[in-house]
Amino acid sequence: MIKFPGIIKSKLPRTGTSIFAVMSQLANEHKAINLSQGFPDFDVSPKLIELISHYMKKGYNQYAPMTGVPLLRERISEKIEKTYKIRYDPDKEINITAGATQGIYAAIACMVRDDDEVIIFEPAYDSYAPAVQLCGGIVKYARMEPPDYNINWPEVARMVTHRTRMIIINSPHNPTGSILREKDLLALQHLTKKTDIVVLSDEVYEHLIYDGEPHESVCKYPGLVERSFVIGSFGKTFHATGWKMGYVLAPENLMKEFRKSHQFIVFTCNTPVQHAIADYLGDEKNYRDLHSFYQKKRDYFVDGISSSRFKIIPCHGTYFQLVDYSRISDESEMDFATRLITEYGIGSIPVSPFYHQRDENRVLRLCFAKKEETLDKAANILCKI
Ligand code: PMP
Ligand code: GLN
Repeated sequence: MIKFPGIIKSKLPRTGTSIFAVMSQLANEHKAINLSQGFPDFDVSPKLIELISHYMKKGYNQYAPMTGVPLLRERISEKIEKTYKIRYDPDKEINITAGATQGIYAAIACMVRDDDEVIIFEPAYDSYAPAVQLCGGIVKYARMEPPDYNINWPEVARMVTHRTRMIIINSPHNPTGSILREKDLLALQHLTKKTDIVVLSDEVYEHLIYDGEPHESVCKYPGLVERSFVIGSFGKTFHATGWKMGYVLAPENLMKEFRKSHQFIVFTCNTPVQHAIADYLGDEKNYRDLHSFYQKKRDYFVDGISSSRFKIIPCHGTYFQLVDYSRISDESEMDFATRLITEYGIGSIPVSPFYHQRDENRVLRLCFAKKEETLDKAANILCKI
């Protein structure tokens, strides 16, 4: 083993390995059914794969423009305009990113300075806080309480100070499956009016929303559009998490700053994948029915575990189902999730790592982006616990 002989002053002293990596590795080691990390176990559309191969063979294998392939930016602009009735300029207000994670990081990096405050909502997706901290910012945690995980806006208003630089929202929400509704977006719009606060809206699950509820994108609220970075991910929309392809929307002056950081974090993203997605995005059929596709999976899985001792926490969006195991065990979430793998062969994600103080609510997250046969096998086991 090689060791650095000097003193390392960690910039992230409290951060360990991502819980997704930890649980997926443990699930693989034990050959468990992996409902932990969020990724589908079914195939990407063969048409999309053919398109990538087509563009590779045609020689689209060198650097794409820093901002992204023009046709892809145009297609995203058309899609957003059709869906949310607002036009983002493909050249000045849209940028392709290496997945949502990189878009989130570059947006934070270009906005947050030393001692700026950023408000995030716990339980929070794991990349937000470390990204803020790497940029010298201070994370302020607002809480969403189980089982509804709603935002307490008066509490958020009390947290805002002259140092608040950014508020990060995420709807549909990972890990809870909760969603923001019109009243939430109006509250945020009101709260940020006449301030210099920038909003980062992580909307990677925009199409995974159920029971006929609309997705309340910041794109629908003019007072938020003018101060928001909107984050999208093709990994979610096209079942291809391994391609790491996403995009960011922002008003021109924010996008100008975004590109200054983006160009030195990644510069540009995978060329043939961008061309293929541009083609594929041209046909609305390729994403229009995603909500019913995943709603069927959610219902199938919930039905499968309805006779188990797990309590089901309503899921309104994303491909994650939260379950409360307090009728089964009073172990910590990490201990119970570990035992679920080692004794029962089911991988899950404990929710406690999504809180900075590791709150324990006896809740686990299960990913239902899986084939029916996988969900059947998992449900059979879960019903026996
Ligand atoms: N934000 C949220 C809320 C997510 O769940 C994920 C990944 N599942 C990401 C961002 C990152 O997406 P990507 O894989 O495109 O980087
Ligand atoms: N976003 C995926 C999840 O929530 C995993 C992302 C990752 O592994 N970093 O499970």
